[in-house]
Amino acid sequence: MSDPMLDVDETVCWQCGAPANPACANTLTLYAKSREHKEGQGYRMVRGRWQDSVHVSIPRCEACRERQRLVKFLVPVDVVGSVLGIPIPLGGWMPVVGCLLGIVTIVGGHILYERLSGRRWPDLYPPLKRLYKAGWRGANN
Ligand SMILES: [Zn+2]
Repeated sequence: MSDPMLDVDETVCWQCGAPANPACANTLTLYAKSREHKEGQGYRMVRGRWQDSVHVSIPRCEACRERQRLVKFLVPVDVVGSVLGIPIPLGGWMPVVGCLLGIVTIVGGHILYERLSGRRWPDLYPPLKRLYKAGWRGANN
C-alpha cells in the first residue's frame, strides 16, 4: 500500500500552485458499501452500517476557494438570467429555443473558463483518483 502523501505536496494549492491555506482545504467525501470493506488508503475513514465514507482534504489557497464559491453562485444566477433575458433579443418567436441556447452557452462558457484558466480539477488529485480506482464513489455517482 503506497502512502497517499508521497506524491502530493500539502503546502501548495492543488488547483493553482500558490501556497495553500490549511483553513481553505477542499474536503471531499467518497462512499463505498460497508460490505465491500474498502481501505481508506491512509485517509480518515468512517465505517457505517451500510456505507463507509472516506474524507480527503485537497490543499487549496484562499483565492481558489473564493473563485469556486463565485462559480457556484454565478451558474444558477446566469441560468435564471438567460431564461428571463435571452428570448427577448431573439424576438420572442422561439422563446424555448432561446432559453435552451442561453443555458447551453452560459453553462458551457463557465466550463470552458475553468478549463482555459489552467487550473486543475479537484477530481484529478492523485489520491482521489486512486480511491476512485479502488471503487470509492463520489456523492453524485
Ligand atoms: Zn489556488
